[in-house]
Amino acid sequence: MNLDYDVIVVGGRVAGSSTALLLARLGYRVLIIDRSHPGKDTLSTHAIMRSGVLQLQRWGVLQRILDQGTPAIRRIVLGFGEQEIGFDFREAFGVAALYAPRRYILDTELLAAAVEAGAEFRQGYRLLDLLFDEEGRVTGVQVNANGTPSVLRARFVVGADGMRSRVAAAVKAPAYERHPAVSSYTYGYFAGIASGSYDAYFVPGLAAGFIPTNEGLTAVFTARPNTGNLINDDEFYRLAAAASPNMATHLQTAELVSPFYRTLGIPGFLRVPGGPGWALVGDAGFTKDPVSAHGISDALRDAELLANALDAVLAERTSEWEALNSYHLTRDRFALPQHRATRTLAEYGWDEAEASALMRRLGQLTEEECDFHLTSMPSATNLQSDPMAMSFA
Ligand SMILES: Cc1cc2nc3c(=O)[nH]c(=O)nc-3n(C[C@H](O)[C@H](O)[C@H](O)COP(=O)(O)OP(=O)(O)OC[C@H]3O[C@@H](n4cnc5c(N)ncnc54)[C@H](O)[C@@H]3O)c2cc1C
Repeated sequence: MNLDYDVIVVGGRVAGSSTALLLARLGYRVLIIDRSHPGKDTLSTHAIMRSGVLQLQRWGVLQRILDQGTPAIRRIVLGFGEQEIGFDFREAFGVAALYAPRRYILDTELLAAAVEAGAEFRQGYRLLDLLFDEEGRVTGVQVNANGTPSVLRARFVVGADGMRSRVAAAVKAPAYERHPAVSSYTYGYFAGIASGSYDAYFVPGLAAGFIPTNEGLTAVFTARPNTGNLINDDEFYRLAAAASPNMATHLQTAELVSPFYRTLGIPGFLRVPGGPGWALVGDAGFTKDPVSAHGISDALRDAELLANALDAVLAERTSEWEALNSYHLTRDRFALPQHRATRTLAEYGWDEAEASALMRRLGQLTEEECDFHLTSMPSATNLQSDPMAMSFA
């Protein structure tokens, strides 16, 4: 069959652009399609964990994000009820600071890097359905290309199209460990919070915090169990004050410079992330509540796992089944414990000591993941020309 591409990636945000970037660097013909413009903001705060920063460094993309004025976060404050602990971020695995770039910077830079590496990007392309052969193997996509129906064929179609993934629906990817949205989350951008620290406070029944980001602004979030009602403005300030006197003090003088962005909650699930001719990455394969701030880092991890798996198949080093099964198992080795800890955290049935233990567990998993990235990822996806990568490669 005449194939247009080796891989078509549906969705050009963090998961899709990262997967495309790595595959394009490996020399494959990659097309990214997106129905809208992935370089705009989206409903999401943007804290990236150490493991995600490590990957952006290794890929040589972090410097581009820093060049956009993304501040380094070197101080963390964690609060569990009355107990508040502030500490300096400890350098480990070659990562000296955390970052929380706005999505219009992170996603844009990843997409630009993918295009520079040779991936093609087509905006305004909405996936309508997948193409299948007689044996049920995915062979391409049927799209609405800026108003014109079109068909494109590839060896693999990757669904990086978010939690409501059309790719996942078309292949009927089985979902497991599912739960409905359990927690409601609201955030807004404030000027005038000069602390520069990443703060997360957990009080029985609620969570809140500060995430320093670009343009001197701080994303301030509050969350509590999903009651069916959004958190309104008054409740936002009440929750923040109940979370920590420190938050209350800062918010008295800080200026809200954006609307509030609200959600009743995000469901949690994992999906089987691969089958004949298709794969899922990012939220399409693994969605969880925002309270653990892990979705972006998990998308970066899974993009690299998937790129390596597809490379192994396309280069005929291993069978498709073996490569995709290994992707599934490795993803779940990290994703399952994260998913369970996040769900428990988002259900707000804990006391302060339990919340502290859950956060420690998530921190431990992140460190295990960093270790994995440095010891087990093939060097082919490691961009050695980046000076920040060189320091620990
Ligand atoms: C309120 C909130 C706060 C959050 N805060 C954090 C945080 O602080 N830290 C963190 O790590 N994570 C956070 N997350 C999670 C994070 O936003 C997600 O995990 C992340 O966006 C997943 O990226 P993705 O690339 O998989 O999917 P998405 O960002 O959802 O991108 C999917 C892309 O696919 C495209 N697409 C969809 N359908 C089609 C179609 N049919 N055809 C063509 N294109 C299509 C869309 O246009 C979009 O560009 C938060 C989430 C929420 C809701």
